[in-house]
Amino acid sequence: MQTIGILGGGQLARMLALAGAPLGLRFLVVDSAADACAGQVAPLLRADWRDFDKLEEFARHIDVATFDFENVPADTAHWLTEHTRVFPNPRALATSQDRLAEKTLFQRIGLETPAFAAVDSRDELAHAVERIGTPAILKTRRLGYDGKGQFRLKSPADVDAAWAALGGAPSILEAFVPFERELSVIAVRSREGEFRAYPLTQNWHADGILSASLAPAPESDALAPLAYAHARRIAEELDYVGTFALELFVQDGRLLGNEMAPRVHNSGHWTIEGVACSQFENHLRAVLGLPLGDTTPRGLSVMLNWIGELPAAGPVLREADAHWHDYGKEPRAGRKVGHATVCAADAAELAERLDRIGGALGREAQVAPVLAALGA
Ligand code: AMP
Repeated sequence: MQTIGILGGGQLARMLALAGAPLGLRFLVVDSAADACAGQVAPLLRADWRDFDKLEEFARHIDVATFDFENVPADTAHWLTEHTRVFPNPRALATSQDRLAEKTLFQRIGLETPAFAAVDSRDELAHAVERIGTPAILKTRRLGYDGKGQFRLKSPADVDAAWAALGGAPSILEAFVPFERELSVIAVRSREGEFRAYPLTQNWHADGILSASLAPAPESDALAPLAYAHARRIAEELDYVGTFALELFVQDGRLLGNEMAPRVHNSGHWTIEGVACSQFENHLRAVLGLPLGDTTPRGLSVMLNWIGELPAAGPVLREADAHWHDYGKEPRAGRKVGHATVCAADAAELAERLDRIGGALGREAQVAPVLAALGA
């Protein structure tokens, strides 16, 4: 019986623990919040990231440590490597914590990115705006997620407002990409270097937060081999072990790297029901040194995110091959509190199910872009 330690006790840790139960795995989750939602399904140790006494206790009880949260301080991750096995390794974590290091890595392995420049002062921002032009997005190098820590500059006159909005934090300025669509690759690499990827997923965001995902992304056969090759090179470069996500923009048919997440990812939640071996199970298999599982999709899947509060469950529960996930979190604006995954054998059937669910929940706007992508 092995015990997996998870740093961070949110819904990702919760879904990892749920995926691990059939494998006979035990879990211990660390989070500073008493109501961390993974604590409803696994033992929770309350500690913050600098409480090394508590972390020592954590390390003593586990066989391997992993993350639900990528912004665990780098020194905490390093400290842990001296006390237990840690996957992904701290270097992979540190690279994906820093947008500059991440984009530099993308370019090094041959993945194009939006034009960007490092910005450490107001003057550097003004120069970067001259070079990159507007519209552009200023993003903090660290601790940004779900569109937080970002400011959109419409014109050079926005320099002062942008610099003030991010509080003068080390940042990067990125050209605004008028992309055709957003895709992600969810992939997994084992301790032995075996690599597998799930089909490309198409994603839609609202207010910087993922709203819906569709997999396999329509008309993505031509892009998939290149996207997988980029993901594989990144994983090899970082000696990455576990599941990760690579977020991509498609512009004029070309792939641009936006960011990577060194963990299971919201745009891979559909794999719980849509694939024989989910991103969560494959992450556990990878960090334990077990053979990786099949990533072939059963059919088509759509994931709808519930942000802020849960809608009524009935319209999802009544539908065939539709699946309800309530993370057990208190409702709060902007918070991910659950999701639904709807699966079907073909696009027409999926569109019918989705259309009924969207209508019954009054969520027509959320499902509309997915219906359009399905040709409905
Ligand atoms: P991020 O936190 O960097 O993933 O940004 C959140 C979302 O903002 C992305 O998924 C895109 O929808 C949008 N976004 C971020 N960067 C850019 C960009 N350079 N150009 C256009 N849209 C962007």
